[in-house]
Amino acid sequence: MILGLAGLWGQFPVLAQPVAEGCYADWQSYVPYPPAQWPVKRIRLVAHIIVPPDSSHIFPDTVDGRYKIMGLIQDASYKYRHLQPMRLPTASAYIPDGRVEFVLEYAHIFYHPRADWDWSVHNTHSKRVRAALRMYKELVLDDPRMVHRQDAIHLLFAERSQASVRRQFEGVASGIGSKDWVLMLDTWHEVSRGGWPSGLMAHELGHNLGLFHTTTKTGPLNDGCDDTPTYPVNTDCWHGDTCSNNIMDYNAHAGALTACQLGKVHQALSGHMATVHQAVIPDWCIHHPEHTIFIARDSSETWCGERRLWGDVVLLPGSTLRLQCPVHMPPGGRIIVSARARLILSGQGRVTHSCEGTHWQGVVLRKKGKHDSGRLEKEAAHNQLENCRQCEPVWTKKPKNEAF
Ligand SMILES: [Zn+2]
Repeated sequence: MILGLAGLWGQFPVLAQPVAEGCYADWQSYVPYPPAQWPVKRIRLVAHIIVPPDSSHIFPDTVDGRYKIMGLIQDASYKYRHLQPMRLPTASAYIPDGRVEFVLEYAHIFYHPRADWDWSVHNTHSKRVRAALRMYKELVLDDPRMVHRQDAIHLLFAERSQASVRRQFEGVASGIGSKDWVLMLDTWHEVSRGGWPSGLMAHELGHNLGLFHTTTKTGPLNDGCDDTPTYPVNTDCWHGDTCSNNIMDYNAHAGALTACQLGKVHQALSGHMATVHQAVIPDWCIHHPEHTIFIARDSSETWCGERRLWGDVVLLPGSTLRLQCPVHMPPGGRIIVSARARLILSGQGRVTHSCEGTHWQGVVLRKKGKHDSGRLEKEAAHNQLENCRQCEPVWTKKPKNEAF
């Protein structure tokens, strides 16, 4: 399956667009396609339930109540991992898997009894933002016992009083590309009457991941992406086949993202925008042999954008892999260059390792005859192998039991 997907890369229209100089300036280098060559980025979440004095009308502090919150997050994740095709006309290729997941552990749901639990009093957007900022500071930043204060997005679940005339679920994110918080209002109220606001959850987290709205309710908006459908194509169209289904505008479906949106998300999560990259779980600091990436026999690929891999890379016989930007290998990870294959470091390309106290293994060149051995080529002095156990390439014969 991995080899088959690699062949699709050349058909991908996004690559036809000019790529800006450097590794971090353009979103095109971060579009997660083909999916098997982009490790999933898992975002850590911590949830906080604001508890009224009588403990009622909130997600109950029970197994079932906690599973409901985790279910909302799982469904928001599902939307990013199983994207729908865009319903409205778009220049974007359809990318079926956004390679982003949200992770909320059972033990990372906290209940906070508060006398000032009623959010009816925060009756304007700016009042709600100020209140959320204050709550984030008190519950997270100022509490040294709180887990993952700096390396998670914190979800604040608050409810308006039952007497409030305005009880309708809504959300606010702390900023574009910000890891800090999402305020979810009246989520329990919505769930208890049969609703399931996983679309809103996905939308608010989309802001944290670096995305703007694609439109306002009445007109177009510049979200920095030319491939997102714009109003007034379907002004304020909420539900139905002719409505947008983009996660980042106003609709009931919230299941699609364009190549540009996904590129911007992965650009931000790679550390090149604001703070949200701090919430990415460092899965690249564990070696995952099952996530080995194979470069197809006799194919040629260029990797742009910084990548943090979970497993090894194997260049099958006759293939060429050109690395234009830094690639981070997991601890003990190897790059195996088969006979007649070439690993080329050019541009800002280097292979490195960014986890404390460990190293990646190095490059193995398969030896075969006088002219057919695997090759490592460095085009400039800064194109190096770094932080490896064995930074000089090792020449070995292919072991008989090697499966590829
Ligand atoms: Zn929004």
